[in-house]
Amino acid sequence: GTVSQALDDTALVEADRSTFFHPFTAVADQQANGALVMSQANGSRIVDASGNEFIDGAAGLWCVNVGYGRSEISDAIAAQSRKLPYFHTFNGVSNEPGIRLSEKLLSLAPKSMRRVFYGSSGSDANDTAVKLLWYYNICRGKREKRKIISRDYAYHGVSVASGSLSGIPMVHQNFGLPLDFARHVSRPDLYRDAPSRQCYTEEAYSAYLADELDRMIRAEGADTVAGFVAEPVMGTGGVLPPPRGYFQEIQQVLDRHDVRLVSDEVITGYGRTGTWFASEACGMRPDLILTAKGVTSGYLPLSAVFVGDEIWSVIEDASKDGRVFAHGFTYSGHPTCAAAALANLDIIEREGLVERVAAISEGFRASFDDAIGDCDIVGEIRSAGLMMGVELVADRETKARLPASAKVAGRVAMAARRHGVLVRGLPNSDIVALSPPFIVTQEEIGLLAGGLRAAIDDVT
Ligand code: PLP
Repeated sequence: GTVSQALDDTALVEADRSTFFHPFTAVADQQANGALVMSQANGSRIVDASGNEFIDGAAGLWCVNVGYGRSEISDAIAAQSRKLPYFHTFNGVSNEPGIRLSEKLLSLAPKSMRRVFYGSSGSDANDTAVKLLWYYNICRGKREKRKIISRDYAYHGVSVASGSLSGIPMVHQNFGLPLDFARHVSRPDLYRDAPSRQCYTEEAYSAYLADELDRMIRAEGADTVAGFVAEPVMGTGGVLPPPRGYFQEIQQVLDRHDVRLVSDEVITGYGRTGTWFASEACGMRPDLILTAKGVTSGYLPLSAVFVGDEIWSVIEDASKDGRVFAHGFTYSGHPTCAAAALANLDIIEREGLVERVAAISEGFRASFDDAIGDCDIVGEIRSAGLMMGVELVADRETKARLPASAKVAGRVAMAARRHGVLVRGLPNSDIVALSPPFIVTQEEIGLLAGGLRAAIDDVT
């Protein structure tokens, strides 16, 4: 009953305290507060070890897109695991789920994509992109063309290469990052940055940012710059949809300097913004598309890097001269992870979930405008499909920031838990992010918005 459950929970929390080294976690806080121990989930709802139920307004970490409890995926995992749990894909060895998944992914991706390279995480997808850009230029005889530009506050991962592409201060501090191949330009922040640069239309701001990139490439020397990496809609960096014309302007600069575009769709891929991929809808013509998270809805770890025409043709030609892209992971093309992805994509197609995201995104947005739009500390609500960012401020008129030490977004997220709602406070910011599963119901959206309102009221 309830009593033994509570005892179990206490024992688990104690064991966690003394054994588990958590990512991105202040150890002293974890020691003081104890862990939130998750136990089981279904749909958009998750239950902790003490029996408290939450609506998962974040889909885990932007990934459980089809929701929890999908037995089709679990069954596909079990069946493949019994048949062939694992084999490698080095030296041209392959497996059926990996092959079927490659076919499926290319049928969904923009037409210019030619091949799919696999790993296990968004970070390794970004590392693969870095090495693909370097390899591509070495094959073209452009050994010096290796700098990669990304954007301040971007999140591309935490490995030493992907962490260098990331632009979040806490990912760099204490590690001596970024490494010296990486450069950063401004993120497109219409709310805060555009006015301070005297950009009063979206078009003017896009032109300004493209010019900043152009100047950086010229200053570095275009023959030293290999790529520009960007999320179509920036996620962890603030949930920032691009201003009108942004990627069209950026694309022109890149074309002019023979710099390849890498679209990090680790969050946006497979429907989050209401289209299968966000790149084309945002005006990007990417040479590489990076995906992870939603490819399996998080049921198993998998990343998929799409390689476009231009880079693939250079790799193919170089191979005729005996060159090999000497890169890959034990788990590249993992058959059981591929089976999970196939089952997940089948659900998304069969249930029309990409179309559903497009259809409900306006109502999703309106629910939050209604519930929290009048809060004194809500400066702006931004959204694209089922991604939302709520920027908290000290003063709505002046947009004055809250004191960083007050950690208001983190406190709002903690308070939301007490109202049965999981949302995320983004790092190094006062932004609360939401990204519910695509199957979230109208009732659950109402509960999320109401829970967030109650949490904001608690904290202010
Ligand atoms: N790229 C983007 C856009 C992400 O949002 C993330 C993770 O949140 C990553 C890369 C890194 O993915 P992972 O945590 O799987 O390494």
